[in-house]
Amino acid sequence: MTSFNFLSIALDARRITRGAPELLAARQHERLNELVTFARAHSRFYAEKYRGLPETIRDVRQLPPVTKPELMEHFDEVITDPAVRKADVQKHIADLGNLGKPFLGKYMVWTTSGTTGTPGIFLEDKNWEAVISAVNVLRIGGEWYNRDVIKGMMKAGGNSASVFAGNGHFFGVTMLERQRQSNRSRGKRIQLIPVTLPINEIVQRLNALQPAMFAGYASALGLLAQEQLEGRLNIHPSIVISSAEPLSAENRALIQQAFGVPPRNNYGCSEGGVMGYECKQGHMHLNADWVLFEPVDAAHQPIPAGQLSDRTLITNLANRVMPIIRYELGDRVSLSPEACSCGITLPVVNVEGRTDEILRFTPAGGQVVPILPLALWSVLKETPGVLRFQAIQTAPDVLKIRLEAKHAHEDAPTWERVSANARAYFASQGLGNVTITRASEPPMRDPKSGKFRNVWKA
Ligand SMILES: [Zn+2]
Repeated sequence: MTSFNFLSIALDARRITRGAPELLAARQHERLNELVTFARAHSRFYAEKYRGLPETIRDVRQLPPVTKPELMEHFDEVITDPAVRKADVQKHIADLGNLGKPFLGKYMVWTTSGTTGTPGIFLEDKNWEAVISAVNVLRIGGEWYNRDVIKGMMKAGGNSASVFAGNGHFFGVTMLERQRQSNRSRGKRIQLIPVTLPINEIVQRLNALQPAMFAGYASALGLLAQEQLEGRLNIHPSIVISSAEPLSAENRALIQQAFGVPPRNNYGCSEGGVMGYECKQGHMHLNADWVLFEPVDAAHQPIPAGQLSDRTLITNLANRVMPIIRYELGDRVSLSPEACSCGITLPVVNVEGRTDEILRFTPAGGQVVPILPLALWSVLKETPGVLRFQAIQTAPDVLKIRLEAKHAHEDAPTWERVSANARAYFASQGLGNVTITRASEPPMRDPKSGKFRNVWKA
């Protein structure tokens, strides 16, 4: 049986990080079978789904894939703890005061929208929490925090700033809140700076805090690098961490130039946690001993290494409260056919991912104001009554919104709230002149790519 003790996870992860591929394969096999046995015994959903399959699973591909809408529809049957009810979890997350507070005192909760546009709720148990912290300390700690970084952090007093969306139970902010609450004496030194603030206010707060560790969405970091190069921002972090969005070559170069350190990049999602981390060569290695990762085509058939997949199936080998087994993610990825020269034997992945662009609006008689797609997304997503939306910039001062309310009979009041929130957000950015209009059509997938995008420029 796998032990979920911090030390044994860390020691085992250390053996696997640079170990033989056979060792990794053996762990994957053992952990998959423990997970499947547990899910069959405690989740009515998986018991039904796996009826008729052999007791021991040789290959993950023997198991049928699952999707987010399916898990959300059967939430109470998926969850292995009968004390957890979807309605109660929804009440818990409706209150922002519960950010970072565990549900029933033991489960962390995240919400997500993702590529299908269907809202999702995910629970994380103590096993997974132990795995995430042990694996991160060992792998990310070992790769990113060299002597210079640690010296720099101590010199700067260890302050850290994260520029994330703070207006919902998203992965980044929930992790951060948990860190703050478990670290009360340092709570004030670990700051969340809401990405929804106007850029000059973000700059002011960063200048005041002088963070040694600075994290954010790739697009926000790119924008702030520009602020630093133009002299308005003046900070000297010893480490810069990019997450949630793919880090483009342009942003990578800009960040390095502005802050004098190479950005560190990780790859995660609510369903799989921190799934990958970049090594010193800049390659993204997967934590494949804890997350099975299958690049597939639209019919869920495997895509060979070196070729770009249409989507990805992931299996979270640690989490027991909500088994995530061959779960479909919209990420387009390719596995590298070659081993990385850094010596880490964990597989290397390239993630195409989301490529939301920064929108640029023009205020009446003023200079262009950049709007970060994830900031606008978080404002609209957290409006009560919203099921799905898409925000499309159609002119320098016009935003068109496609909206679907959770309940059809509440369509009109939901639209009123959405348009009021959008107007207030734009006004806070000095863009009171922007017109918010409602599209006649409902939210839909892109006819060409089949993906569901949230924010873009037409
Ligand atoms: Zn490497």
